[in-house]
Amino acid sequence: MQAKAKNNTTREVADFLKGLERAAVTTHTGADGDAIGSAVALVYLVRSLGAEAVFCHSEPVPNYLRWLLPNEPLTECPPDHDLLVVDTSRSDRVGVPHEDVHPVRLNLDHHEDNPLYGEFNLVDAKAAASAQIVAALYAELKVALDKQAAQAIYTGVSTDTGGFRFRNVSPEAHELVADLLRAGVVPAEVNDRINRTGTVQQLNIVGASMANADRYGEAIVSTVDKNDYQRTGATEIDSKESIDRLRNVAGVEVVAHLREIEGGTKASLRSESVDVGEIARGFGGGGHRLAAGYTTHQKTPQEAKEELLQVLKGLVNLGDLDNTGSAG
Ligand code: AMP
Ligand code: MN
Ligand code: MN
Repeated sequence: MQAKAKNNTTREVADFLKGLERAAVTTHTGADGDAIGSAVALVYLVRSLGAEAVFCHSEPVPNYLRWLLPNEPLTECPPDHDLLVVDTSRSDRVGVPHEDVHPVRLNLDHHEDNPLYGEFNLVDAKAAASAQIVAALYAELKVALDKQAAQAIYTGVSTDTGGFRFRNVSPEAHELVADLLRAGVVPAEVNDRINRTGTVQQLNIVGASMANADRYGEAIVSTVDKNDYQRTGATEIDSKESIDRLRNVAGVEVVAHLREIEGGTKASLRSESVDVGEIARGFGGGGHRLAAGYTTHQKTPQEAKEELLQVLKGLVNLGDLDNTGSAG
């Protein structure tokens, strides 16, 4: 029988990092601000310890995060490097080919459903962001934060907390931010680089998402499909930020954004009270209790919406839909 995977202490992982010679750091597919921020900060930390470290990812890094990168991303983990993975809840979402080739030596994350798939695991679901866990390693190893590393960590914490507004915000997160500002971070500068990089196509696809939003009692569901992309010249990724705008409606407990991708639909779920991570896992996805996602194959956004509403029916009040049974 295989031994139960173990969560390591910050000290154990700090000692492991000290023993590295060459490391490649990657993060989850569909990388977000915390994914890139925590990965970049870990690259700088390993370099500060005197080892070689590179960032690798097989997908292009979104434009609004590219300024953080320590190197042009390698699309694979080099054969003689140890693979370190951050912010990735499951091993099938790791951003470079790894199974059978590169064992995951470190799995550093803050998703509570992380099954501890690494040789070393540092998983803390109380951390607001994976970047906060990387910051704890800087402190443990007494490595001073320079401006570059501090900006990467700030990006992770500020994006994963929705700009310090979500329920994962803690005194520890704010104390860390104070340290990051002392290390040279200027929040307005970071904000300019990560939020003020939009295009009119993005604006138009987010507008389409808002126009397509339907309310069912305590739920809001919005869809965008290929026709919307064609009309606006935008892509699926451009529509991602729509999810946060959907949350602004009073009296709503669950919001969903369903966007068409090649061969199916991608879903983002957010809530203030309902365990949407559980819902996402029911569809083969995952995430946090109040922020989660999944992909359904061979389903249009409209079909995915019908399917999702059937599940939501038992969890929140869907108003009239509770009686009619159809999303219409
Ligand atoms: P998103 O809605 O894409 O911003 O994702 C919200 C959260 O759900 C993040 O923590 C993701 O890591 C997680 N998540 C999104 N899609 C998936 C998926 N297909 N499988 C597992 N976790 C996911
Ligand atoms: Mn992430
Ligand atoms: Mn994260």
